[in-house]
Amino acid sequence: MDIKIDMPESVKRIIGTLCENGYSAYAVGGCIRDSIMGRIPSDWDVCTSSLPEETLKALDKPNIIKNGMKHGTVTVRYDGNNYEVTTFRTDGEYLDNRHPENVSFVTDIKDDLSRRDFTVNALAYNDKDGIIDHFDGIGDIRRKMIRCVGDPDKRFSEDGLRIMRALRFASQLGFAIEKNTSDSIHRNAHLLNNISAERLMSELIKLLTGENAEPVLMEYPDVLSVFIPEIRPMIGFEQKNPHHIYDVWTHTVKVITYVEKTKNLRLAALFHDIGKPYAFTLDNKGIGHFKGHPDISERISDRVLKRLKCDNNTIYEVGQLVRLHDTRPPAEPKNVRRLLSKTGVKCFPKLMELKRADAKAQNPTLLKDKLEYIDKLEEIYNSELKSNSAFDLKRLAVNGRDIISLGVTDGRMIGSVLNKLLELVIDGELENNREQLLEAAGRII
Ligand code: ATP
Ligand code: MG
Repeated sequence: MDIKIDMPESVKRIIGTLCENGYSAYAVGGCIRDSIMGRIPSDWDVCTSSLPEETLKALDKPNIIKNGMKHGTVTVRYDGNNYEVTTFRTDGEYLDNRHPENVSFVTDIKDDLSRRDFTVNALAYNDKDGIIDHFDGIGDIRRKMIRCVGDPDKRFSEDGLRIMRALRFASQLGFAIEKNTSDSIHRNAHLLNNISAERLMSELIKLLTGENAEPVLMEYPDVLSVFIPEIRPMIGFEQKNPHHIYDVWTHTVKVITYVEKTKNLRLAALFHDIGKPYAFTLDNKGIGHFKGHPDISERISDRVLKRLKCDNNTIYEVGQLVRLHDTRPPAEPKNVRRLLSKTGVKCFPKLMELKRADAKAQNPTLLKDKLEYIDKLEEIYNSELKSNSAFDLKRLAVNGRDIISLGVTDGRMIGSVLNKLLELVIDGELENNREQLLEAAGRII
């Protein structure tokens, strides 16, 4: 077959130089898969028959970073990009379901491709030899199929992270997971217990923000529940409420796929109703209620994200979105200002995005009214932004110095006067106007 891969100049140069020195070298892995699929590769990796020291010597020009030499990897910096150049290798035994005890360098590329996780990732290419495909990776790209190279049980027990990688590739590429590989994933999901929080989190985000997350999330909640057991009660939890036609997990998955594909919104969607099973009550008409669930969801979201070593900014914003997702004040300027004072200007539209997705994933016969209400909130938000009204201290027409000039010296007192003024402006009892505010400040003091 004649597939031509359009490699970046730097990659051609690296491969060309290694070949001129008598070694064989290929671009390998995800970059070939993505190129064949017409996707833009996130990075280009090179594999070569040269040993790390030989790679260093052959490429010993612009910038070389000598990390990972033990595992055969030399990082080359060309034109502002890093390229990993790794010696053909096979992995020794895995004793901890994660790290090979040792790696052996080999001379045949087939051996190197056989250690790679999935057939679609076990592809290599250079201009001279064309595509190297020993495991029918191209066939699987055509079939849109994630399939382990070799025996799935063995491959997952070597490295449990591959289980999450399978899910995230299925989500990112819109592929199905081949039956044997899929059965093995369900069977071996517990191996994720051996994987570090950081790696799990990074794969989880890629899965959630993938193009095709819905079927993956619907089929593999058992896998996610290994490292987020808090998910388990949502699965199949019937809501018994006229607003809802789906159980909590199905609803959650729909909200995830309806919000835009950004990290915080997708995480917020994942967690927004996670507290529902704990808040469930049934009234005497047999209708289910979930009073207080957003606060419970926020606490769970906080705990899970901390455990997964997520950064604080993410934890904070996701928590805000989760806590406020079900707030439904009458659509009036003062209520929007109050909401804005909690979310901040940047997060408010994200909250509206989450609310829209949440509504779309509920009973469709009630959707129109819900969307109109959210549109109204957003309209008011836009006009508030353009007006001179205030919903944070930055926009308030007086500042700390003004309060000091009225004779207040205590820092905490200054803060509480400003906050009181802001509250009055938010509630519409005062205009955001300097004279009025100074006069009111005098009264408060
Ligand atoms: P992307 O970079 O788009 O996330 P990728 O397929 O390039 O996807 P990387 O994590 O960059 O994934 O890894 C590069 C290649 O290394 C993979 O395509 C695969 O061949 C191999 N690989 C990576 N991680 C593993 C693993 N855990 N087990 C086996 N092979 C792996
Ligand atoms: Mg890559």
